[in-house]
Amino acid sequence: NRQIVLKSRPIGAATVDNFELVRTPVPSLASGDGENAAGQVLSRTLWLSLDPYMNVRIRGKTYAEPVPIGGVIVGRTVGRVIESRHPDYAPGDIVLTPGGVPGWQDYVVSTPERKVDPSLGPISTALGALGMPGKTAYVGLLDIGQPKAGETVVVSSAAGAVGSLAGQMARLRGARVVGIAGGPEKCRYVREELGFDACVDYRAADFAEALARACPKGIDVYFENVGGDVLQTVWPLLNDFARVPVCGLLAEYDDMSPRPGPSMRSVLNKRLTLQGFIVSDPAHLERTGDFLRDTSSWLRQGQVTLRQDVVEGLERAPEGLVGLLAGRYSGKLVVRVAE
Ligand code: NDP
Repeated sequence: NRQIVLKSRPIGAATVDNFELVRTPVPSLASGDGENAAGQVLSRTLWLSLDPYMNVRIRGKTYAEPVPIGGVIVGRTVGRVIESRHPDYAPGDIVLTPGGVPGWQDYVVSTPERKVDPSLGPISTALGALGMPGKTAYVGLLDIGQPKAGETVVVSSAAGAVGSLAGQMARLRGARVVGIAGGPEKCRYVREELGFDACVDYRAADFAEALARACPKGIDVYFENVGGDVLQTVWPLLNDFARVPVCGLLAEYDDMSPRPGPSMRSVLNKRLTLQGFIVSDPAHLERTGDFLRDTSSWLRQGQVTLRQDVVEGLERAPEGLVGLLAGRYSGKLVVRVAE
């Protein structure tokens, strides 16, 4: 059983020297290999998926457990069942093993995620369009991005697995779709073969101008895969009420220390929701009745209170405002203009 294990944690970008090939006996459920053989399956790896999250997992700073030094690298596989202690799987079945299981090896012991149905497509697509990247694009774009016909959707890492699919799904929803990718050849591929309306090269000197030209009506949905400088360039083009599914931060995974300021990394890792709002927007008008009913009742019952400071006389309003801004009052400041 060939295994690829983590030899050392990367400092900056990962290199081949961080990995090592070792050989071990083929595991056997009968002899008790696997944490608890009951419910587990031994599969022969046919396909191994390579995904950016692995770059996060080998560093040890993430929302999930890092791969230990000496541990087999995690990864989804499509494999053929050799031995099964799980009622749903039998030898010969084709299964998908989970992304957190050490999959960089010829034989994997796991509780599979599911069977792979070859009638839906070639079995390797269970790692791509019909697997985790496909579902990521689907959920991120449709449920969080919610593109509408005629809106402008921008997708970064547009030539990649998730980005390719997210952009094409946005086209299906009738949006104008603009990709961002590295280099003219990838941009050509995104435009001509994936059918995006435009694609902009983020490595080109005129990236910011080219992106603005490609988005004359601004950006309504930004499907974020990379973070870093690309995000900085996209940010000023976002329209009112734009949605930004923060899917990934390819440009930031190699960072050895956090970037200054509020970090997109924590938005992603902590699944934060950021939503701007303006109370006077028509969308909030219908809450006025609920607000008055609840808050007047809380005030009456002493459940909420608000101190009031009074400035006497209109002529002292400027002084009051200056004091307000200087922190001289607490609670609500009002001016008594007349009795
Ligand atoms: P990709 O195929 O998009 O990743 C490889 C590509 O990343 C490269 O071809 C390169 O494209 C691009 N890239 C690498 N470094 C940089 C950089 N510094 N700046 C900009 N682009 C860069 O991977 P996936 O489609 O699998 O994943 C896309 C994103 O989705 C990733 O961030 C991933 O972590 C995330 N993801 C998130 C999930 C979630 O549940 N939130 C699930 C799955 C994926 P180029 O040549 O154009 O630079």
